[in-house]
Amino acid sequence: MKSPTLSKITLLFFCSFFSLCVLSQSGRWQQRVEYKMDIVMDVKSHQYKGVQELLYFNNSPDTLQNVYYHLYFNAFQPESMMDVRSRNISDPDRRVGSRINGLKPDETGYQKILSLKQNGQAVNYEVAGTILEVQLNEPVLPGSKAIFAMEFEAQVPVQIRRSGRNNAEGIDYSMSQWYPKMAEYDYMGWHPNPYIGREFHGVWGDFDVKITIDPAYVVGGTGYLQNPNETGHGYETPGTKVPEHKRDITWHFKAENVMDFMWAADPDYTHDIARVPGGPTLHFLYVKNKNTEENWSRLPELTIKAFQYMNERFGKYPYEQYSIIQGGDGGMEYPMATLITGHRSLNGLVGVTVHELIHSWFQHLLGTNESLYAWMDEGFTTFASNETIKHISNSTILNPHKGTYMGYFDLVKRGIEEPSSLHADHFNTNRAYSTSAYSKGSIFLNQLSYIVGQENFDKGMLRYFNTWKFRHPNPNDFIRIMEKESGMILDWYLNYWVHTTKTIDYGIGSVVDNGQSTSVTLERIGEIPMPIDLEVTYTDGNKETYYIPLRIMRNEKKNDRGLKLLLQEDWPWTHPQYSLRIPKKLSEISEIKIDSSERLADINHQNNAFRSDSK
Ligand SMILES: [Zn+2]
Repeated sequence: MKSPTLSKITLLFFCSFFSLCVLSQSGRWQQRVEYKMDIVMDVKSHQYKGVQELLYFNNSPDTLQNVYYHLYFNAFQPESMMDVRSRNISDPDRRVGSRINGLKPDETGYQKILSLKQNGQAVNYEVAGTILEVQLNEPVLPGSKAIFAMEFEAQVPVQIRRSGRNNAEGIDYSMSQWYPKMAEYDYMGWHPNPYIGREFHGVWGDFDVKITIDPAYVVGGTGYLQNPNETGHGYETPGTKVPEHKRDITWHFKAENVMDFMWAADPDYTHDIARVPGGPTLHFLYVKNKNTEENWSRLPELTIKAFQYMNERFGKYPYEQYSIIQGGDGGMEYPMATLITGHRSLNGLVGVTVHELIHSWFQHLLGTNESLYAWMDEGFTTFASNETIKHISNSTILNPHKGTYMGYFDLVKRGIEEPSSLHADHFNTNRAYSTSAYSKGSIFLNQLSYIVGQENFDKGMLRYFNTWKFRHPNPNDFIRIMEKESGMILDWYLNYWVHTTKTIDYGIGSVVDNGQSTSVTLERIGEIPMPIDLEVTYTDGNKETYYIPLRIMRNEKKNDRGLKLLLQEDWPWTHPQYSLRIPKKLSEISEIKIDSSERLADINHQNNAFRSDSK
């Protein structure tokens, strides 16, 4: 056994040797990659050849005997796992359906490994669908690095899901998941999830990418363009015409401290530039026509507002650049960029842009394992988009999350809900997965603001960002931040909401006139216990909020959106009923209501309010 002093010295050595060995008070390490890729695209065959040099830093305390890569394009072949899954699920994504099964050989996607070396020596490997498993010649020791040199060739599939060629709006290349990508190894082990079309996880690192392509094309994506003069494309000087080259042009991009790299290309892209005061610079790439012209011209102004709000409320976006690129099959987030479809109403266009750019926070900075915790990226993004859209549209509605709650209530009613903690690939239905991830994940936050109080919640979200950006937070990391911020015990909430399909239902049981005072009995009907804000409206129009904390919280909120809280005795979760006394005659009360803020996801609102007959 090593002495503590020795391991401390070793650790210091590793951390100073490797630039991004993250080991803070949480004691968590993370792997690191440095990619250099050079590809040549043939726009006639839609095939490309590439070389990849990958520096892999093993910051883990483990000796690695093998490594895994993702080969996402292999999913777009008949009988692939994604194809079979799509044809067997009861509610397939309409974009996929049985389309993969009908792909002809020149329409499929593939990534073929031509050669692979570890530190100069050829290694053995095996391809199984979308996963490449490499048996290492020599193990990668803790705190050491390996160089993997690969030659590969690939064919861009006809677009079916996310990436591909010739999307529905005629964009030539939507290039996400386009290169052999190292799988993530973390404290939970390897994550070589076969691609069936859902979520992602990645290794933090740097990308240096050269894309050689026909000179007619305009290219955008993750990273900063290194050679605007050679490409003749005005990333720095907008409006510059592409020069008349005979030969292909090489576009050189670099991105630092990101988890992925996406690019897109089309000969007809218009390129607009706008700047958020204080950063970042925004790039808009789209094909200008009657379907896009008007709404895309109004998009920069609203995107700037969205960035300003997000910077203030959820933490400062740290990169200098963000690109909104027409492409893909809906909206999909990538580091420093998004691919969205562009033929939309202004509301639709702003809605999808805001959602995807917010993923820069809840995924591309707070790099959760989306497969395991889709609710932490899709849900948190949905929550922040509801708030952002409310802000930028100057809306005065009390609850911008109403639609999100309706989606969740509908899922409960259908009886097909599955726990949010289920791995994203393994839900029985697309609906259960998406409602769990987007709606229930969003409610997780909105409801948490009810439990801990809005002020604690807002501070907690910033603290979460500042503590966990550029890392891989998990659900416990998040709830611990909120526990520290609020001084409350919150494990019960995470457990019930994420790991079970139990529901919330509170009701007002009886209201009894005692002459000078009124007794109210509350009932817990649902299985999830919750603190209760009980709003009492008097006949003179005044309101008061009786606040009943849950005993297992071991603390209570001191303030919440300026409400005056009348603290009551706490409620032990074992007790199905709770009584409180309002020191007013019943005739002076016009209404008693559970949670007037509409943040509690109570599945039955019929029993939540008492209204006096005299009203
Ligand atoms: Zn999303």
